[in-house]
Amino acid sequence: MHSSPDIYFVGAGPGDPELITVKGARLLGQADLVVYAGSLVNREILVTHCPTAEVHDSAGMTMEQVIGVMAEGVAAGRRVVRLHTGDPALYGAIQEQMVELDRLGISYAVVPGVTSASAAAAALRQELTLPEISQTLILTRMAGKTPVPERERLAEIAKIGATMAIYLSVGMIEKVVEELLAGAYTPETPAAIVYRASWPDERIVEGTLADIAGKVAQAGIDRQALIMVGEVFGVRRDGLKARSLLYDGAFTHGYRVGIVG
Ligand code: SAH
Repeated sequence: MHSSPDIYFVGAGPGDPELITVKGARLLGQADLVVYAGSLVNREILVTHCPTAEVHDSAGMTMEQVIGVMAEGVAAGRRVVRLHTGDPALYGAIQEQMVELDRLGISYAVVPGVTSASAAAAALRQELTLPEISQTLILTRMAGKTPVPERERLAEIAKIGATMAIYLSVGMIEKVVEELLAGAYTPETPAAIVYRASWPDERIVEGTLADIAGKVAQAGIDRQALIMVGEVFGVRRDGLKARSLLYDGAFTHGYRVGIVG
């Protein structure tokens, strides 16, 4: 028989308790012990999906303490979920936890989640990949306490000019803008900040690289927000110039023969 892993790493999604996967919600509902990242995970997710589980907020814990609590739970035969915000594979520090669990001989599986960049796009009602504008999305961050490899400096990757979702950096927005302007972007490049995408108090600030830093300062947003930047964000203001070939009547693809194709 296929036995289930000792621990599930579950992506909680961006905040809205309905933006967790069906599998993630089921596993939370079955969990006896949940260790969650309290600084970012919406408590409503716990209230909704695991009201009776024992919960531990990892915000005030060291990695060793997190592993210790989970290992004790597993040893006691309890069902353990490690709940991470958004998708666990992005800025989730899950690798070091998995290495430690490997060392202890504890098995685990990962259930993906909706990352905040997807929730920010939804909040903006914005497609991130538009024909002839950008077909590439870069998920990145600015170097802060956690360093970023030199070749990935924001000013370096900003040379591509793609759509960007910048995590963990809104508190350094002025520096972010400076780095972006050193790349392919201009003061006219559209930018949007989405604070707590999908939470009840979600907020959106939109502008250009020329004014976004000032608007963000005025709004008092310095955390839990994404910086979205790129030409795609201009289409709601300026209109769409090119349409996708996917639904173009003249275009033939695997599922439909075009009229003149
Ligand atoms: N694993 C998470 C990211 C964790 S890093 C994910 O996939 O989304 C934490 C950063 O994520 C925050 O600094 C912020 O930039 C972003 N973030 C997380 N939740 C957010 C939300 N609901 N709205 C906007 N940004 C969010």
